[in-house]
Amino acid sequence: MSERPRLTVLSGPSGVGKSTVVAHMRKEHPEVWLSVSATTRKPRPGEKHGVQYFFVTDEEMDKLIANGELLEWAEFAGNRYGTPRRAVLDRLEAGEPVLLEIDLQGARLVRESMPEAQLVFLAPPSWDELVRRLTGRGTEAPEVIERRLEAAKVELAAEAEFDTTLVNTSVEGVARELLALMKVL
Ligand code: ADP
Ligand code: 5GP
Repeated sequence: MSERPRLTVLSGPSGVGKSTVVAHMRKEHPEVWLSVSATTRKPRPGEKHGVQYFFVTDEEMDKLIANGELLEWAEFAGNRYGTPRRAVLDRLEAGEPVLLEIDLQGARLVRESMPEAQLVFLAPPSWDELVRRLTGRGTEAPEVIERRLEAAKVELAAEAEFDTTLVNTSVEGVARELLALMKVL
């Protein structure tokens, strides 16, 4: 049976710990390639262009979409986010494991266009803990947190659409499980 690495999509509500888990995983396994998305959101303190995201203007995002340069894109809590298509396809063709960290709408679009992709849902230990993490991160204004919590209710209700659920109790534990799912470990 072929063990060719597949495209893996990691989704889950804002604040659940997706970026933290992925950063931990990549520190120990830099060979796991993570797609860098384009977004119209403004950088948070410490975020760098080309590292966490390609930070683009609305006009630049319009062009990326019009030119078919995005594998998928979605509007999330007032900003647009999209996955550059070429880089992902190049890595997959080279046989490298590829990870996308995108929202529910994006995960659904990937499932439609690439049915072989595995969809992984990162869930919080509880609703209260999710609220604590999102608020505790301290990077969003209260009204933005409200929007993200509204979106979180929709995302949590869609968990059954995913192939696998990982509960983010321990960052190390989830990172290990994700590596195993990606067949890196
Ligand atoms: P996301 O990328 O899903 O929006 P982040 O990775 O930014 O979420 O994490 C949100 C907050 O939760 C951060 O302050 C992070 O340090 C914290 N966090 C992440 N994973 C855990 C965990 N397993 N236990 C406790 N806190 C966590
Ligand atoms: P944040 O603003 O917290 O970095 O991300 C907000 C949401 O957008 C998260 O759920 C994140 O996974 C998602 N996201 C990031 N990049 C993309 C992308 O390229 N496409 C889609 N559909 N969602 C993305």
